Amino acid sequence: MIDDADVLIVGAGMSGLCAALEAARAGARVIVLEKAPEAERGGNTRFSNGAIRSVYEGVDDIERLVGGLSEAEKARAEFGSYTREQYFDDLARVTQYRCQPELADMLIDDSRDTLFWLHEQGVRFLPLYEWQFKLPDGRIRFSGGSALEMNGAGAGASDALFRAAERCGVQIHYETAARDLIESSGKIVGVQARRGGEDVAFRAPSVVLCSGGFEANVEWRTRYLGPSWDLAKVRGSRFNTGDGLRMALGKGAMAFGNWSGCHSASWDLNAPDVNELAYGAIFKRDDYLEGVVVNADGQRFFDEGADIRSMTYAKLGRAILAQPGQVAWQIFDSRGSARLHGEYRVKQSARARADTLEELVGKLDGLNGEACLATLRAFNAAIRDDIPYDPGKKDGRCTRGVDPPKSNWATAISEGPFEAYAVTCGVTFTFGGLRIDGDCRVLDDVSAQIEGLYAAGEMVGGLFYFNYPGGSGLMSAAVFGRRAGRAAAQAALVKCAGQ
Ligand SMILES: Cc1cc2nc3c(=O)[nH]c(=O)nc-3n(C[C@H](O)[C@H](O)[C@H](O)COP(=O)(O)OP(=O)(O)OC[C@H]3O[C@@H](n4cnc5c(N)ncnc54)[C@H](O)[C@@H]3O)c2cc1C
Repeated sequence: MIDDADVLIVGAGMSGLCAALEAARAGARVIVLEKAPEAERGGNTRFSNGAIRSVYEGVDDIERLVGGLSEAEKARAEFGSYTREQYFDDLARVTQYRCQPELADMLIDDSRDTLFWLHEQGVRFLPLYEWQFKLPDGRIRFSGGSALEMNGAGAGASDALFRAAERCGVQIHYETAARDLIESSGKIVGVQARRGGEDVAFRAPSVVLCSGGFEANVEWRTRYLGPSWDLAKVRGSRFNTGDGLRMALGKGAMAFGNWSGCHSASWDLNAPDVNELAYGAIFKRDDYLEGVVVNADGQRFFDEGADIRSMTYAKLGRAILAQPGQVAWQIFDSRGSARLHGEYRVKQSARARADTLEELVGKLDGLNGEACLATLRAFNAAIRDDIPYDPGKKDGRCTRGVDPPKSNWATAISEGPFEAYAVTCGVTFTFGGLRIDGDCRVLDDVSAQIEGLYAAGEMVGGLFYFNYPGGSGLMSAAVFGRRAGRAAAQAALVKCAGQ
């Protein structure tokens, strides 16, 4: 039997394209199978906002990656730096010290080099001003970690990586869904796929699974994440239905990591059940720090100011899903409204506006208005006015005597006009995955390598639990994709040389 390629990759998101590029540059013949049609290619990567978390050593790194900063830009921002220790601390803290240290080390230690490598592939970067502290004099202080975003967000990066892969001779087969792994004498030697209603077999000595998690699979969400997860809205690709996970588990791979956990954020109630590329990020509702969030009983249920946005937004979706009717309202007064990002203003927004709070709550269908007004009065009265409000840092301006507290940036909801945005849970990606070694080889249930099988991206289990530091998804996909591509190519080429 003749191999179709040296390395066969399933899925053309960040992890699959990085794997393809590394394998091709190592001299391997590479085929990528992609379930989506070409017009919808790019997976969750394409839907992403493009924030990317990495170790960086200071303004020089930023300057090299964005291709120069003007003196005015340098004067306007304190870029700081982000050390491997800070990255490790952030990752460990938000995952409640469950993330596997060896995976964390790989992610963090490869992160800076991977930024420069992505740049060499044609991905362009911009300073991520949006997520940082705003100082009273108008300057911006970087809060660490996600200092950069990819130019053109996920779509821009995805286009750049497809171009690079095509230049390297990587063959991409669209509308070709992998269905099964082909095994011979205990080794994985290819993939059985479905294309245009026909079964097609692809053979290769190395197979790299990069087909994402199971966030778009209603039945698996309910099965693994639990009751009500069928009701969450999908923020990204409709194609990530757990196919690669199912195929690998069927060959004895070890399930690993937080299978009941996922990344889920606050998402506009008017969003469709499954997102579409045309909408992009318009349903993102991540400015809850600027106000309060109440449920249908009029009660707060989440510390809106527990930490900076990038450390809390990925767990707010789960908190909303647990509320009656899986709905909540973000409420802002005129000062909070003035700080909201542009996506809040789109015409699809589930928004209500009124001059008084009494009038506002009357407009919110399903909300216990009286209880909500009582909550807002208690909240306003509980604010520590003796601590100044300061968006330039975690200011400690908190509430006292209300449960849950708001730990930072607490400001009274008192100056009209007022706005409310109805939100629900948007699921981003699932955390449960496979166990891999340092070369991204998939391990079986006794931790032995399944020969010929590799995995990367959302399919890696053991890195994220409960929550995640913003910008780590793309970096994890790139880091593990690169590792998988290199190792898969090396193993395949050694095998070919020996034949
Ligand atoms: C709205 C949104 C915003 C986000 N913003 C950010 C951000 O700013 N920063 C950040 O770090 N992360 C962000 N993320 C998360 C990030 O996008 C993902 O963690 C990352 O892109 C995952 O890359 P991946 O290669 O593992 O998966 P994907 O990019 O999803 O690629 C998986 C690919 O596999 C294909 N596939 C699935 N099944 C099969 C099959 N059977 N056969 C063949 N192909 C198959 C899919 O079609 C898809 O193209 C965001 C995600 C979303 C949805």
